Amino acid sequence: AVQWSPFVQTFRRQRYPWVQLAGHQGNFKLGGERGTILKKLCPKEESCFQLLMKDPLRPFIPSYKGNVTSDDGEKFLVLEDLLGDFRNPAVMDCKLGVRTYLEDELAKAKLKPKLRKDMFEKMLQVDPSAPTAEELRLGGVTKPRYMIWRETISSTASLGFRIEGIRKQDGSSSKDYKTVGSPQQIIDVLQDFVRHQPHALTQYITRLNQLEATLARSEFFATHELIGTSLLFVHDHNKANIWMIDFAKTHRLPAGVQIDHRSPWCVGNHEDGYLVGLSNLTQLLEQLLVN
Ligand code: ATP
Ligand code: MG
Ligand code: MG
Repeated sequence: AVQWSPFVQTFRRQRYPWVQLAGHQGNFKLGGERGTILKKLCPKEESCFQLLMKDPLRPFIPSYKGNVTSDDGEKFLVLEDLLGDFRNPAVMDCKLGVRTYLEDELAKAKLKPKLRKDMFEKMLQVDPSAPTAEELRLGGVTKPRYMIWRETISSTASLGFRIEGIRKQDGSSSKDYKTVGSPQQIIDVLQDFVRHQPHALTQYITRLNQLEATLARSEFFATHELIGTSLLFVHDHNKANIWMIDFAKTHRLPAGVQIDHRSPWCVGNHEDGYLVGLSNLTQLLEQLLVN
């Protein structure tokens, strides 16, 4: 009622803690306008947002409000802040798809497959039994080998989605879900995320079903390969919602290539497994209803 008061606006602007669950910290700034955020501009992502604003998927996308250039010459997308209408929200970022790298990235990594000691060590740290005898002997793994292996430690390769990060209403947050891979492990994390918030669980499931129906009639979805995109889940004590975010690695399919977002990926076929992840995620949430 007193929105015009500058004091209230300042206060309201800080009413919720903004949280970034993935990506580099420098990629985001709070926007100038209340209710917006700024994301470092990538032209591919900007063109996705432009198309999405005219697609049936629009209600599932943060509004795109153009771009701005900062004083030091950096360009940013101006996006709707999805947390803006919530009070002390719980937030979860789920990355969809059976792989999170582009076919190009894999092809490039295969060009000069040097042995990488750093990747070998990361692998050992997560799973000492992952390197082959040969890799142990050499003390290194190639980048393509590492890229493919990395998708198998989370649920990305097996279920077509993974949890990237969560902020709970008690303010605690974690990005430490790299090895949450089995359905039961995921159910436990989801259960904890919606604990004592039954309205959130039912609204999430409804929303995911609406999303699936809308994807089926989306021109954008039919013509793009969605890699590394997320669903952002947000709820507070009253309401819950889900949006699609992060289109930096979403590319238009090459001419003549069609995908169904469900068939298994093999090198070169461009399948992304988006619908595999969406239905597995929906099913795991539905299991929480009966628990
Ligand atoms: P990465 O590629 O590593 O996933 P990124 O730099 O491309 O990261 P995004 O995935 O787009 O960035 O966003 C990172 C995080 O920022 C999200 O997990 C979410 O917490 C927050 N975020 C992104 N877009 C919005 C938005 N429109 N409103 C509110 N929060 C957002
Ligand atoms: Mg992301
Ligand atoms: Mg990204």
